[in-house]
Amino acid sequence: MLEKVESSKKDNIMKDLQQNHLLKALFFFRNSKVNKNMKFYDISLQLDESLVIYPGDMTVKLQQLKNVEKDQWNLTGLSLSTHSGTHVDTDLHISASGKPVSEIELERCYGKALVVDLNDTSLGESISVQQLKSQLPSPQNCKNLIILFKTGNSKVGYKSFHEDWVDLSSEGAEYLNRCQIKAVGIDSLTIGSYETHRALLLHRILVYEGLDLSAVEPGEYLFVGFPLKIKAEGGMVRAVLIQE
Ligand SMILES: [Zn+2]
Repeated sequence: MLEKVESSKKDNIMKDLQQNHLLKALFFFRNSKVNKNMKFYDISLQLDESLVIYPGDMTVKLQQLKNVEKDQWNLTGLSLSTHSGTHVDTDLHISASGKPVSEIELERCYGKALVVDLNDTSLGESISVQQLKSQLPSPQNCKNLIILFKTGNSKVGYKSFHEDWVDLSSEGAEYLNRCQIKAVGIDSLTIGSYETHRALLLHRILVYEGLDLSAVEPGEYLFVGFPLKIKAEGGMVRAVLIQE
């Protein structure tokens, strides 16, 4: 008799647990749906053989290894540099003790982003502290933000390499470091000089380069920029901005 009571108690507990799991699952699915008002902006460059490269870097090569008409399958070989197209730089780019892309924490590649309007800059200019102070929220409100610069580069595009693409001054990089931002990105293949890279990368600020911001309005977004898990100082990224 006592055993029967015990087993019915167990049954009830199991039923409760199952119901609880079911409710949790229903709640999860209801809340994980993509809101139909969400907009996704792909801000990545296409990896193909016409892709512009930084002088001295490898060109992108796509090699057809199998052909569906001849071999039943398509299969493509790919050779490129870890800084081809849209990519992220880690501190290993400039420091022997830095971390490779495969070891960076994923939360550093995701979060609230601000696309900053620097459209009126032109080739040859470096973004100054003054411009940052007038375009960014106060330093304490910049903490953990991902800052993406939409500059005059977006009007020029990536048809060819420009020695004088708008970049970030080293003083500007120092200012961003004091603001404790999470990551920074720019609409050209380089954020700037060696000193600019140092001021960012040695202070846990990831650097995104090769962003295509030409079709994006300045403003607030959610940024997603997970790189491939490569054991190197840079890695290709499918960068996306999401707006609700
Ligand atoms: Zn790079």
